[in-house]
Amino acid sequence: MNGNSHLFIPGPTNVPEEVRRAMNIPMEDMRAPDFCDFITPLLGDLARAYRLEEGRVFAFPGSGTGAWEAAITNTLNTGDKVLMSRFGQFSMLWVDMAERLGLDVEVIDVDWGKGVPIDAYKTRLENDKTHSIKAVFATHNETATGVTSDIPALRRALDEAGHPALLFVDGVSSIASIPFEMDGWGVDLAVAGSQKGFMLPAGLAFLGVSEKALAAHEHADMPRCYFSFSDMIRLNDTGYFPYTPPTPLLRGLRVSLDMLLGDGMESVWARHHRLAEGVRAAVAEWPGCRLVADGPEWQSDTVSAIYTPEGIDAREVIETAYFKYQTSLGTGLAKLAGRAFRIGHLGSLNPVMLCGALSAAEMALRDAGADITPGRGVAAAQESFRMTTPRQGRTAAARAA
Ligand SMILES: *Cc1c(COP(=O)(O)O)cnc(C)c1O
Repeated sequence: MNGNSHLFIPGPTNVPEEVRRAMNIPMEDMRAPDFCDFITPLLGDLARAYRLEEGRVFAFPGSGTGAWEAAITNTLNTGDKVLMSRFGQFSMLWVDMAERLGLDVEVIDVDWGKGVPIDAYKTRLENDKTHSIKAVFATHNETATGVTSDIPALRRALDEAGHPALLFVDGVSSIASIPFEMDGWGVDLAVAGSQKGFMLPAGLAFLGVSEKALAAHEHADMPRCYFSFSDMIRLNDTGYFPYTPPTPLLRGLRVSLDMLLGDGMESVWARHHRLAEGVRAAVAEWPGCRLVADGPEWQSDTVSAIYTPEGIDAREVIETAYFKYQTSLGTGLAKLAGRAFRIGHLGSLNPVMLCGALSAAEMALRDAGADITPGRGVAAAQESFRMTTPRQGRTAAARAA
C-alpha cells in the first residue's frame, strides 16, 4: 500500500499525531506518589468537555458499551420500569442490554431515520401518575442512521410532565463533537467512549453523572463490581484508580482534552457542523442517493448514513472503496446492511480529508454502477467548504497572535 489508508468510519476515528506520540511511552507506576497530580486535573478537564460542574465524571477501562452497563447497574434496581426508544443499531442494542440486565423496558419503536419521539415520551410520562418509570433513555446521536435527537426538548418534556425519572443519554458519538451540555440540559447519566469524538483508541468508557444520579446510586440494588461507582469514587477522590488503569490512554486523553478545550467546545462543535454540511452538499448531487436521516431536523453532524441508489448494493461500494481506493467507509448496520453506507465525519478531520472520502465514495459508487457525474459531489463539497470559514478557536487565535 502506498501513502496512507483513509479512515472514515464513525469510530474508531483518526488519532492526531500529538495524541499518538503522547501514548507511546514507557509504562509507569499507577500508584506513584505523584500520579494523582496527573489524574485529578485530567478528570476535571473531562468534566469540562462534558460541560458538567454538578456531579462527577468517570473514566472506566472499557468501551461505550461498558459505560452503558455502568450507568444502568449503578443507579437502578432490578425490575425498574424504564422508557426507551429504538431507531437504529445502537438504540436497539441499548434496549437489549436493559432487558438482559433485568429492567422492565417499555420500548417505543420509531422508523429508522427519525430519533427520540419527544411527544410520545411526554404523553407516556404525563400518564404515569404514580411515577413508576424510573429512567428515560435517549440515544443522542444514532450512529447507525446518522440521526441526532433533541435532548433539551426531552428535558422540557420531563419537566412539563413534572416527572422525576432519571435522564440517561447515550452520547458516544456526540459528546466532544456536537453541542452537549450535561448540566445545562439536566442530563443525569451521559455515556461516551474514547474512540469517537475524543480521538483516541477504544479502551476508555466515560460517564458523566449528575448529583441526582449519584443519590440514586446510594440505594440502587443491581449487582455490579468492576464498574462500581462507589469503588471508583473512593479512589478517584485521592487521584487513583481501584485497579490498573490504561495509563497510555490516559496520557493520550490529556492531549486530546488539551486540543478540544484549547480550541473551545463551541469551535469543536462548529467545525463538525461545517464538515457535515460539505458531506450533505455532496450527497445532494448524487442521483438516487439520499440520507437515511429523514429531514434536516434529524441530520447528524458527526456521521452521515447514505442510501445507495436502487439496485446498487452498498456492500459492494464499501468493498470497492476499501480494496481499490484504500478508504474505509462505514457499513450499513442491521436492516441497513446492503442498502446504505456511512461516512464518519467526527474527530480529527478537516475539509480536504473529507474531499478525499467523498472522492473515494463517488468513484466506488460509479464502479458499482451508480449514474453519477464524476466529481459532481466532490465539487459541491468544495464549494460548501469554500463558502464557509472555520470558526477560529482559542488555540488557532493564539498561534496567529
Ligand atoms: C459506538 C457506539 C456505541 C458502542 O460503543 P463501543 O465503544 O463500541 O462499545 C454505543 N452507542 C453509540 C451511539 C455509538 O456510536
